[in-house]
Amino acid sequence: PSITRGVTVEIPKISWDDIGGLNDLKKKLKQAVEWPLKHSEAFSRLGVTPVRGILLHGPPGCSKTTLAKAAAHAAQASFFSLSGAELFSMYVGEGEALLRNTFHRARLVAPSIIFFDEADVIAAKRRGTGSSGSTTVGERLLSTLLTEMDGLEEAKGILVLAATNRPHAIDAALMRPGRFDLVLYVPPPDLEARYEILCVHTCGMKIDDDVDLKKIAQETERFTGAELEGLCREAGIVALRENITATVIHNRHFQTVKSSLNPALTSQKID
Ligand code: ATP
Repeated sequence: PSITRGVTVEIPKISWDDIGGLNDLKKKLKQAVEWPLKHSEAFSRLGVTPVRGILLHGPPGCSKTTLAKAAAHAAQASFFSLSGAELFSMYVGEGEALLRNTFHRARLVAPSIIFFDEADVIAAKRRGTGSSGSTTVGERLLSTLLTEMDGLEEAKGILVLAATNRPHAIDAALMRPGRFDLVLYVPPPDLEARYEILCVHTCGMKIDDDVDLKKIAQETERFTGAELEGLCREAGIVALRENITATVIHNRHFQTVKSSLNPALTSQKID
């Protein structure tokens, strides 16, 4: 991927099959992302306005970023990734310039997806101007983002995806038609999704027949996808730590790791 400060660009390699569970959500994203990006001329022919922005919200580590990348892969779109926190921390004017520049570059190489992680940091509710009449960094970034999104009306093949754990913190101006038209909740994985996630992350690993992924899925309620991925990786490391010449990973390795983990979702309020 090419990297300019604060933004990475690539066509991601992640496919829908790399994501366990979330079948309904994947279907909705396919329609909202693949169709307009791949068949923008069909939309114009019928005078149908495609979705321009999608907000994904839900607890951390439950595949918001991965879904956005899979959507870009499926549409063979360039994926521009920006972090809200990083934009916020830039020098005066630098964040706005990067935003404008990213939209400009995305237009040049369309189809493109512009992805904002931690979107609430730059799209937080406005509190009005300060006593001196000056605007804050967040307000300037938000107004630049609004201007750029409104400018997408004429641009074809560009979609903005944003992810947040705090949807209630997002400014209402971004929720108007033509901006984030679609808001999708990305839930923590249920039993079936946990099983599928474990399958995805062990498919390249040598695991023994004594490893029962269905049972592990039952025992990992409130684990996020990121934690399940970590569990698989750590089980492999435990096996190697036990014996560096090991040829397979056993159930006991998974159990050792599982008993040492405390799932993040237990202590967290789910938005
Ligand atoms: P954050 O809010 O912290 O940015 P996120 O919701 O964007 O988190 P991701 O970054 O997409 O989460 O996921 C973190 C890791 O967990 C990824 O490496 C991904 O492989 C794994 N993961 C999460 N959910 C799933 C899933 N449903 N299937 C497969 N892997 C998953």
